[in-house]
Amino acid sequence: MRVGIKTTLTLLSLIFSLALAAIVILLVVREHEAQYRKNVEVNLRALSDNTSEDLVNLLAVEVDIVELTSLLLRFDPYENIVVAFVFDQNNQLIQPYVGQLGQSDPDIYEALLAEASDMTERSSSLGDIVIENTPIGSYGYSLGRLVVIADVSNVLRASRKSLLKATLPIAIVMTLVVWLLFSWLLGRQFAPVLTLTSFTRKVTENRDYSSVFNVKGNNEVSVLAKSINKMIERISVELDNNLAKTQQLSKQQRAMERLANFDSLTGLPNRQYVMEHLKAELARAKRSKGDVVAMFFDLDGFKSINDSMGHEIGDRVLAGVADRLTGMLREGDVLARLGGDEFILVPHNVVDDSAYIQVARKIIQAMEEPFLQNGLDLKVGVSIGISRAAQANFELSDLISYADIAMYVSKSAGKGKFTLFHPRMVEGHKRKLDIANSILTAIVENQFYMEYQAKVDGKCKIVGFEALIRWRHPSLGFVSPAEFIPIAEQGGKVPDITLWVIQQVFKDIPTLIKKFGRSTRVSLNLSAIDLKNKKLFDVIGSCSERYAINPKNVEFEVTESAYLDNFNETNHFFQALSERGFSVALDDFGTGFSSLSYLTQIQINTLKIDRQFVQNMEDNPRSMLVTRSIIDLAKRLNLKICAEGIETQSQFETLITEGSDTLQGYLFSKPVPLEQACALPICIELEPSTISLS
Ligand code: C2E
Ligand code: MG
Ligand code: MG
Repeated sequence: MRVGIKTTLTLLSLIFSLALAAIVILLVVREHEAQYRKNVEVNLRALSDNTSEDLVNLLAVEVDIVELTSLLLRFDPYENIVVAFVFDQNNQLIQPYVGQLGQSDPDIYEALLAEASDMTERSSSLGDIVIENTPIGSYGYSLGRLVVIADVSNVLRASRKSLLKATLPIAIVMTLVVWLLFSWLLGRQFAPVLTLTSFTRKVTENRDYSSVFNVKGNNEVSVLAKSINKMIERISVELDNNLAKTQQLSKQQRAMERLANFDSLTGLPNRQYVMEHLKAELARAKRSKGDVVAMFFDLDGFKSINDSMGHEIGDRVLAGVADRLTGMLREGDVLARLGGDEFILVPHNVVDDSAYIQVARKIIQAMEEPFLQNGLDLKVGVSIGISRAAQANFELSDLISYADIAMYVSKSAGKGKFTLFHPRMVEGHKRKLDIANSILTAIVENQFYMEYQAKVDGKCKIVGFEALIRWRHPSLGFVSPAEFIPIAEQGGKVPDITLWVIQQVFKDIPTLIKKFGRSTRVSLNLSAIDLKNKKLFDVIGSCSERYAINPKNVEFEVTESAYLDNFNETNHFFQALSERGFSVALDDFGTGFSSLSYLTQIQINTLKIDRQFVQNMEDNPRSMLVTRSIIDLAKRLNLKICAEGIETQSQFETLITEGSDTLQGYLFSKPVPLEQACALPICIELEPSTISLS
């Protein structure tokens, strides 16, 4: 039980008042007793003196005992007189008087007699026993002594009793009055504290920090109340601040959740979100023995739009794709952007083949309509891969990779297609994995080797070679660079391959120069990944020093998409290479849908017209027209032209006529190992009519 200060103080005050009253009464009683005793002694002495005077007459003559006894009987009315002794001048007891008190105890009599006999002083006391020793007769004529012994205890007790009877009720009443007064005053003083306490309790319970305690007066409680008011005000301000901060935090949290789960460009859920969603869906489907469908898709032709039109337009197209697809969604479908131009759709409750096939068709159809950007109709297609949870044993990573595999099958089948995953497709994927995993071993175990394909001038004189990597895999057999370079790019193995190629080609260059002359130029292919490798420039520099290579004999080929992918840095890199004397060629020109305007800004020496152009040129007048324009443009920009993929005499003749500087193709030589390349004649002789392209 909680005992409040007020109760404690009230109780203490009661105890204190009672104690005080008791002390006062005690002191009064003691004082009264002292006075009373004095009074009794004075009276006793007066009685003794009177009696002693009367005894003079009796003792002066022959003592008449009867008379003496009757004289002593005058003590009878004094109840407190225990005994009285009359001694003669020889201190012989003449006559005793025994009062009522003395009669009750004979032992006392003897003791008092002994005391009285020996007594010389005028008066003495033994506790409550008062003894008066009065001489009988005058000084020099002593007739004896009268000793009167009284016990004052009874009278004192009686007087104390009557005193207490008279004063105690008043004292008690006074004490109670004082105490009540004190309690009342205490109550008054404590009232504001109690109101303040209930106020603070109310504020705490209701959390209403706008309330203010009404302060009155200027005492300690008012000061406390003012402090409490200030404290509540402070709490209220702090609460407001906290609220504002909490709101801001939750806003930031929501924004962060959005950032973490949604793609800022398209507003679609991102990889993280969809993976979580799929995880939950897979668990649910596994429990209920249901199924989940993942539709993975990648845009066709988006990269070229990005490369040629710039990232800004590319981003707008992506946002347009997202909008268009979102418009087709049904409730519960989740469409997410995984990154780049990859999306995934998890249709809600679509497990029936015909249903998701229909969805896939609708997506492909939706992409057929071009996206209008900057006044241009931009076309992107979509390749879709579809996998089902049951096929992937409800494993998320398998579900995704199966959809990915199926999507690649769609891509290779000619884009704008959808493919349902089939386990046999894993085999193809396995090859991809095998290739990716054995690239480093291939370098260590020398499975790579270089082949050189001649480049000729208009007179079929060999002016250079393109170095092309080859791989004879111990179990997979011959693997084309067209297959393993993209895999190496994905697996981050390109820098190792490029280093190996540079070292190998630089080692071979002196042999080729020896045969084909000082001006022979050997081209090496670089991938988009190489252009992002900050160490490549130093690698080229140190290798050319180690193998004493003159940069004039070296050309680097890079595809236009790789160049544009990382335009500024690539420009910087090639400028640095040009300053050291190396040449740069733009490979496969014409395959990307590039705008030609960037040609004026880039650091290249040669344009290599792609094989597809060369091959279509004769059948397709538009290809011819484009080829002619490219050559014309290159000439104006002071660039050299190399046409690749020349397989026929007429292609050769046409391109020479159009102004191509160098030519490359099976017509002159297939890519061959160094030894065979060195065995080629300096000038290739062409058959005038039929040319075998075995
Ligand atoms: P590319 O740089 O455009 O190389 C030309 C490709 O066309 C070579 O294919 C070559 O064998 C082939 N070719 C040349 N003339 C003709 C012809 O008249 N008819 C036909 N049908 N084909 C012809 P290859 O060697 O399979 O190389 C494919 C691609 O692999 C190359 O295209 C290049 O991009 C890449 N590559 C080759 N070697 C390397 C390398 O060392 N490093 C890098 N990063 N990429 C390389
Ligand atoms: Mg090339
Ligand atoms: Mg090429």
